[in-house]
Amino acid sequence: MSKTLLTVTIVLFIGCGTLVGQTDFATQKEQMVRIQLQGRDITDIETLSALLNVRRHEFVPENLKNLAYTDGPLPIGNGQTISQPYIVAFMTQALRLKSNHRVLEIGTGSGYQAAVLAKIVDSVYTIEIVKDLATTAEKRLKRLGYDNVNVKWGDGYHGWPSKAPFDAVMVTAGADSIPQPLIDQLKVGGRMIIPVGPHHGVRQLVLITKKKNEVRTKSLMAVRFVPFTRKDSIDPDR
Ligand code: SAH
Repeated sequence: MSKTLLTVTIVLFIGCGTLVGQTDFATQKEQMVRIQLQGRDITDIETLSALLNVRRHEFVPENLKNLAYTDGPLPIGNGQTISQPYIVAFMTQALRLKSNHRVLEIGTGSGYQAAVLAKIVDSVYTIEIVKDLATTAEKRLKRLGYDNVNVKWGDGYHGWPSKAPFDAVMVTAGADSIPQPLIDQLKVGGRMIIPVGPHHGVRQLVLITKKKNEVRTKSLMAVRFVPFTRKDSIDPDR
C-alpha cells in the first residue's frame, strides 16, 4: 500500500471510529431519556430536554464511559458518586425551574447536575467540599462551554451569601438535618430539595417551599446518597 493511501485509510478509520462512538452515545442518551425518565414519572419538558442535551459520558471517568447512560449511580473518584440519571431528573423537575432563575447547588461532584441545571436556568452557583473534585469539575464545565456555572470549593453548609437570594437550592449529598443558612438564602416562594436522614441510612428526599411566614416540608421518596460532610478530609493542607 502506498504511503498516502495508508494515511488516508488510517484517517478514515479513526474518523469513522469517532463518529460511531459519538452516535452510540447519542443513541444511548436518547434511550436513557425515553426509558429511564419518560418511562417513569419525568414529564417536565425542560428537564427532559436538559438531560437529552448534556453529554453525561463527559462527566464520568474514562474507564466508565461505556456505562455513562446506564440506570444507576457511578463512582467519580474521591469516594464520591454521580447520581443515577433518574434521580438527577427527579430533583431537577421538583424545583419547577424557570429560565430567569438563579440556582444554588451543594455537592458539585462531577459537575453533571450543575450542567443539567445550567441548560434550564440563567445561572448556577455550585459548591464542592473536596478540592480535587471542585477543580476538576470547574475545568470540565469550562471546557464544555457551561459559562453560566460558577464553582466554589468550600463547605456548602454556609451556602453562598454574597450571591443570595436564590430561586432554588439543590443539595446532592445526604444531610442529617436541613442547614438553616440554605433556607435563609432561599427567596420567598423559592424551592429547595435535599436528601435528609440518618447517616449511612436510607434518607428522604425532602422538598422545602419557603412561604412568607412559614417553611413547608414534604417528603417525596426514599433515596441513598453519599453523606453531606463538614470538612474536606481529602486535602490535609486546608
Ligand atoms: N451533583 C454531583 C454528585 C454529587 S455526590 C454530580 O452531578 O456529579 C455529592 C457531593 O457532595 C460529593 O462530591 C461530596 O464531596 C459533596 N459534599 C459533601 N458534603 C459537602 C458539603 N458540606 N459542601 C459541599 N459539598 C459537599
